[in-house]
Amino acid sequence: MSEVSDSGVAWTIVGQGLAGSCLAWELWRRGVNFCIVDREGGIAASRVAAGLVNPVTGKNFEPSPMIGEFLPEALEFYRRIEENLGVVLWHPLPIMRLAGNDDEWAKMQAKAARADVKVWVGRELAKQEIDGWAGGFEISGGGRFDVKMFVDRTREFFQAQGIYRKDEIAFDRDVKVRVWCDGAAGLVLGRHAEARCAKGEILTVRATGWDEARIRVGAGGWLVPLGEGCYKLGSTYEWERLDMEPSEAGLERLRRIAMKLGGADFEIIAHEAGVRPILRRSEPLIGPMSEGGWMFNGLGSKGSLYAPGMARRLALWILNGQEPEGHFDIRAFRKRL
Ligand SMILES: Cc1cc2nc3c(=O)[nH]c(=O)nc-3n(C[C@H](O)[C@H](O)[C@H](O)COP(=O)(O)OP(=O)(O)OC[C@H]3O[C@@H](n4cnc5c(N)ncnc54)[C@H](O)[C@@H]3O)c2cc1C
Repeated sequence: MSEVSDSGVAWTIVGQGLAGSCLAWELWRRGVNFCIVDREGGIAASRVAAGLVNPVTGKNFEPSPMIGEFLPEALEFYRRIEENLGVVLWHPLPIMRLAGNDDEWAKMQAKAARADVKVWVGRELAKQEIDGWAGGFEISGGGRFDVKMFVDRTREFFQAQGIYRKDEIAFDRDVKVRVWCDGAAGLVLGRHAEARCAKGEILTVRATGWDEARIRVGAGGWLVPLGEGCYKLGSTYEWERLDMEPSEAGLERLRRIAMKLGGADFEIIAHEAGVRPILRRSEPLIGPMSEGGWMFNGLGSKGSLYAPGMARRLALWILNGQEPEGHFDIRAFRKRL
């Protein structure tokens, strides 16, 4: 199944965000001949992501699909890469999931009784912990994956081996050994299927006296401790203007989330924006493209959770012809549209 190009390089991974980086490690550990290329500019997501992994998410307080398979796989992947790179990338932390009103709290309590939700839900938060909130649960199994350190160190690692280069690759249907991991930049070209990418803005803040031991999720946002009094705070969703420019409106929204989850007193260290690649909510898709080459995209808001498991599935498919669950196959997804 493996094809080799004229240059002798078997595979070219186009894009070195979370998707391309995870795939690169999967090919590397199998001894495959490949190179990885990134243009280091334009719209992207991994450079700004907070790396939050939250097993039970959203307004509906639902477990992420197939989390029972993807979370252990992601943790095993993080551990392996930590060993290879000699850095700490995964920071497990309990999550405080807070309900803004009685309806939300009633829904969360009902869901918490369901077997697939119960496994992640810990104690109900005490009155003094939820001042100003209708209720809350502690959630286990989550934490923060240091996405920026992961992609930066991965680039350095492969650069040192001469298999990473900065370049912009134009699409060519005749080159079948390219794997497109080009995130929202690729999706907005409409190549795979109709996409619904979302710009997100995020703050890095410094504050004293805020809870550093737990991630807080509520009020449509999250507050993720980084250590030494710093936090990532996010995030906004904007569907029309897909650019990398932080905006005044975004800042206003983030300030409101900060007030609810942390407090009024904080210093802004950075205000950044990125574009999430979305094809089907946050459920990724992989597979051969009818136009030539392969694709790995659509990680949405959950790249940290899904990228490792999807990269392994794609590596097995490309190298051994082992197809993944049909649910992840871009060809099946396109047929249903
Ligand atoms: C504000 C914000 C906060 C987020 N927070 C979280 C979070 O807490 N937890 C979580 O799990 N996820 C989070 N996400 C989502 C996460 O960032 C994405 O799911 C993930 O980063 C997508 O990775 P990717 O590799 O598919 O895309 P990208 O990171 O966009 O990478 C694609 C790469 O391809 C390159 N590229 C594109 N076209 C070309 C070309 N033609 N030639 C060469 N290179 C090319 C780009 O330069 C880019 O580096 C967040 C996203 C945003 C925007």
